[in-house]
Amino acid sequence: MVLDAGHGGKDSGARSGVTGALEKELTLDMAKRVKRELGGSFAVKMMREDDRFVDLDVRAARAAAMGDVLVSIHFNSGPSSVRGPETYYWRVDSHGLAVRMQRGMAAVSPAESGSREMVRRRLRLTRNPEIPCVLIEIGYLSNPGEARLCSDGGYRQRMARAVADAIRAQAAQGDAGTGMLPPPIFAPPSRPTDAKE
Ligand SMILES: [Zn+2]
Repeated sequence: MVLDAGHGGKDSGARSGVTGALEKELTLDMAKRVKRELGGSFAVKMMREDDRFVDLDVRAARAAAMGDVLVSIHFNSGPSSVRGPETYYWRVDSHGLAVRMQRGMAAVSPAESGSREMVRRRLRLTRNPEIPCVLIEIGYLSNPGEARLCSDGGYRQRMARAVADAIRAQAAQGDAGTGMLPPPIFAPPSRPTDAKE
């Protein structure tokens, strides 16, 4: 199990205009919370444990060497009216985990508005690692209400528990109860020049 705290170092990710929170700090905090929630039941490897820059291609390449599943943790940014967690996946073998992630996070989130929920998208961290992998966006830092929630440790803890529960359920039950699998799509690895991640 590999937990990837998005961004880091010179790459701060999104910054909330409401709370001033930096995405790279929230993602690291979340990754640590998820690791604690998983306790000793999983061998958890952390892509980063401090404030350092790791290139996306390096993350994608390292993930498969580090573990058998990758969860990349992010916080979102967009129009101020949009709020709600989102989950990105690409691989067929990642669909079940993506469904469980989105269900779990949506159950914690008190409100959604215009968010994309679960999205199949070819990103470097959804297409390129040769293991099941999902990228989750805990909430929109650009939405005043959700930014305040995301700055609350108690809220992040509830999200971390939901994420850990999804990981545990997928490991125990596989794709059972997560709906029809999507068809495989053959597409080249995602490149830095592709759409913004
Ligand atoms: Zn991000």
